Amino acid sequence: MPDVKKHFVIVGGSLGGLAAGLALRELGHDTTILERNPTPVLEHQGAGIVAGGDTLAFFQKYDRCDRPFAVTSHRRQYLDNEGNVTHKEDMDQNMTSWDLAYYLMRANYDGVENPYCKVPDGKPTDGKTVHLHDRNVTDIKERDDCVEIYWKSGSGEEGSLKADVLIGADGPSSTIRSILAPEVQRKYAGYCALRGTVPESEVSDAAREAFCEKFTFYHCRGVQILAYLIPGKDGTVEPGQRLINFVYYTNFPEGSPELEEIMTDKSGKRHRITMPPGLTDPNAWEKQRQIARERLPPQFAEIVCATKKPFVQAVTDVLSPTNEYLNGKVILIGDALAGFRPHTVASTSQAAFDAMVLADYIEGKVTSEQWKKETLGFARYIQKRGVDMGNRSQFENLPLEDHIHDRNVASVPREKEVYPDWATAI
Ligand SMILES: Cc1cc2nc3c(=O)[nH]c(=O)nc-3n(C[C@H](O)[C@H](O)[C@H](O)COP(=O)(O)OP(=O)(O)OC[C@H]3O[C@@H](n4cnc5c(N)ncnc54)[C@H](O)[C@@H]3O)c2cc1C
Repeated sequence: MPDVKKHFVIVGGSLGGLAAGLALRELGHDTTILERNPTPVLEHQGAGIVAGGDTLAFFQKYDRCDRPFAVTSHRRQYLDNEGNVTHKEDMDQNMTSWDLAYYLMRANYDGVENPYCKVPDGKPTDGKTVHLHDRNVTDIKERDDCVEIYWKSGSGEEGSLKADVLIGADGPSSTIRSILAPEVQRKYAGYCALRGTVPESEVSDAAREAFCEKFTFYHCRGVQILAYLIPGKDGTVEPGQRLINFVYYTNFPEGSPELEEIMTDKSGKRHRITMPPGLTDPNAWEKQRQIARERLPPQFAEIVCATKKPFVQAVTDVLSPTNEYLNGKVILIGDALAGFRPHTVASTSQAAFDAMVLADYIEGKVTSEQWKKETLGFARYIQKRGVDMGNRSQFENLPLEDHIHDRNVASVPREKEVYPDWATAI
């Protein structure tokens, strides 16, 4: 048990907020998560996640459900336009699904029953955990020894609660960050990720050969597409029942009619950042299917055309100047601190790492300076890497070796990264 039990309020109940909640509960601190989503669980909007070292370490440390978490890909490979393998490297990487990660965390955090896993028993030393949905946080006020957090529900109900420490885990468009650092802007990077999944059992032999237990890429001017296997229904990792997940980056210039078209749903509503699964305008998607057939290798064109519920994410950049505000009473983690481009495959790992190193700091295992340098170093360095990788891939015409080099650099384990001084300056 901690010497002084604290109450942490966590704004945002996605993977970052839940990670922080689980790590602090383990130390015996009380946590309350405020999530603006109107329903008790977040909708199944996600798809695949490359589970990096910190994600795996997090689940090993805090997940008390006894079930497999990932599908292992054994090879990284690149295709040419005809679909032939032009480069391959043996390398194990673990892939999971957003849904499985989310439900495991909810089962552990607040005992949400779900088909993905059994709810594990709590420990007597656990801190109290409260998850409140339909709580849109609108403002915060610093008090002498705490922070007061104000929320509003969908029906107009309003309320507030007090925290010793507020953790902003409210994502790349963070309300908490916009209150404390209003100058920080989230900016569109000039391209989108078209995403979807297809059951491995429903594709051709050629597509199965290309994607099953392999992490496969194709690059051409203005395009990058990659695919890998992830757990299937209810998180199953049984061969034959898993899903092929693809991420297809393609350029849509800011203000162009193409961008407007792909981000406007079938009812005519323009989505700013994410077009949720099932809402894509069928005519806009049909156009993308046609383009995919013209410019992608046949195995990639097949899965893009076969996906039934595509979704679209506009790729954006955002970085907070620091992670600590109001003399340590407010801390930003995960995407609220730094919104990475997906090429880095590091967003979930950042959330997991931020939660673990924060727990070490709260417990006194690392100093304030170490915690800040580690967290900010990772955030700033990987954010910049994502911008460089993405711009090189989408807006330059590079030889394949350069793409392979960029991908290999992004696979360096965090512990082996050497951050430049500008990244760790505090
Ligand atoms: C529905 C969903 C699906 C995703 N799917 C994938 C995926 O398939 N693959 C992948 O790699 N990454 C995915 N991500 C992103 C991934 O979860 C994050 O990059 C990573 O987990 C760390 O993000 P985060 O928890 O810091 O922020 P986010 O995941 O962005 O979560 C922020 C949370 O804060 C809540 N919130 C925002 N503002 C407020 C407010 N004012 N008051 C209260 N709550 C607020 C949001 O509703 C959201 O739940 C997804 C995120 C979401 C929300």
